[in-house]
Amino acid sequence: MKTNNHVVRPFLIGSEWVTGGGQPFNCTNPATGQINAVFGTADEKDVARAVQTAKAAQACPSWRQLFSHQRASILYRLASLVEDKKEFLADLQMKENGKLYKECLGQAKEAAATYRYFAGICETIPGELAPTRGDHLSLVTYEPYGVVAIITPWNSPLVLEAQKVGAALAAGNAVVLKPSEFTPESALQLAEIALKAGLPPGILNVLTGGGETGAALVRHPDVRMISFTGGTATGKRIAREAANRLAAVALELGGKSPHIVFADADLDLALSEVLNGVFSSSGQSCIAGTRLFVERSIYEDFVGALVQLSAALRVGPPDDPTSQFAPLSSFTHRDKVESMVQMAIEDGATVLLGGARPDAQHLSNGAYYLPTILAGMDNNSRICQQEVFGPVLCVLPFESEEALIELANDNVLGLGCGVWTKDFPKAYRIAKAIEAGTVWINTYKRLSVSAPFGGFKESGIGREKGFLGIRTYQETKTIIIGI
Ligand code: NDP
Repeated sequence: MKTNNHVVRPFLIGSEWVTGGGQPFNCTNPATGQINAVFGTADEKDVARAVQTAKAAQACPSWRQLFSHQRASILYRLASLVEDKKEFLADLQMKENGKLYKECLGQAKEAAATYRYFAGICETIPGELAPTRGDHLSLVTYEPYGVVAIITPWNSPLVLEAQKVGAALAAGNAVVLKPSEFTPESALQLAEIALKAGLPPGILNVLTGGGETGAALVRHPDVRMISFTGGTATGKRIAREAANRLAAVALELGGKSPHIVFADADLDLALSEVLNGVFSSSGQSCIAGTRLFVERSIYEDFVGALVQLSAALRVGPPDDPTSQFAPLSSFTHRDKVESMVQMAIEDGATVLLGGARPDAQHLSNGAYYLPTILAGMDNNSRICQQEVFGPVLCVLPFESEEALIELANDNVLGLGCGVWTKDFPKAYRIAKAIEAGTVWINTYKRLSVSAPFGGFKESGIGREKGFLGIRTYQETKTIIIGI
């Protein structure tokens, strides 16, 4: 099938590559505005077929009765194949979401490491024996849900798909994966790699399409668990739909993370980490530290230095190794970021830096938006309360520890938080008081596949990664034996 001289890229159901019943869609390189490829759209019938295929494959002894070390060996092979193709996968992600190549390469390596990690857990995680009740022996077993729907966003598809798909497969499920319509190719590559690694056909199916494809997947009665990363509004829609049949959900949603700097911190280090914490990935990260709270006594100096350092970031094409700041992931997303900055200005914010597209002619075809720093607004203003998911930092002074904690927690989201101080008891007090899934002390945005990750409040439900990350994709069963 061909559309506008592009062959439509098919998606995978079982071992069959199909172009789907929906209207094909374009995927555009946000750095150049050129079309990368045209992808097929899975309609309701394709979704139903993928779920049935997954259900049948999951029930098959060739998957269900594999020993855990055999399942692990498939995941180890998958990890090696991802590692072998890391440059190719990084280049592909860069062309789809505009991220700097070096960031994409780091994420491709992290994806390989993540599959390896879940392979290791798969073959080593022990079973459990609950305390006995008299003459009864209680075994605790963990079983796969069956068919798991995985829906991923556009900001970091390689690594987000690895942490969900790796864990779901290690847990023994079959997966139907629906990547973002902005970044479908990495998921299709994963499907090819998984088949080469020896995963039985039907255990990983990939459907491309927009939100309607995702919604049809979430609605399907045979999907027993849904794992989603994306915006809070979509996450709530998915949770409502899942509630109708009490399907399990794991939701990793938005953030408006407070980044806190006390006067007694290592200020040089704090400066570079605050900058990296908000402007890496052009701010398109759920854990971006987007509300900067600086102790009043150092506020002017610290913010002045931050503005200077941020102004010096080299904005440029993602494939240029000297670039430090790349375009946004899509033109529609840039429009959204632009309108939110406009909203902040209307609400009384002062633009200390950016607030515009770059002037440079060679960047005019891409979805670029300058690093932006805003000041002079209240923490309860819309720009401080709503996630922008772009390179927009709000800076606010604080007077005391008590006032700070109240400000930092005054948001419906609670994903991350950073604290900079040399006073460890103070840092620990704050870490305990902050309502967030991850708190960094004297560092920021350092993640590990072996540490659980997720959000408090409206930032999500459930935890991914870590030793117990596999349990997110399993049901717990108790078997009581009379002896
Ligand atoms: P969405 O949350 O809308 O989309 C994420 C994924 O869900 C995509 O695969 C999307 O498909 C799919 N989807 C959309 N609607 C539905 C639905 N009703 N049922 C099931 N699946 C659906 O993210 P957006 O791309 O629209 O970004 C919106 C905002 O989300 C951003 O501005 C940002 O604030 C936040 N976001 C948060 C991320 C995070 O890591 N926590 C990552 C990305 C975005 P498709 O893309 O094809 O429409």
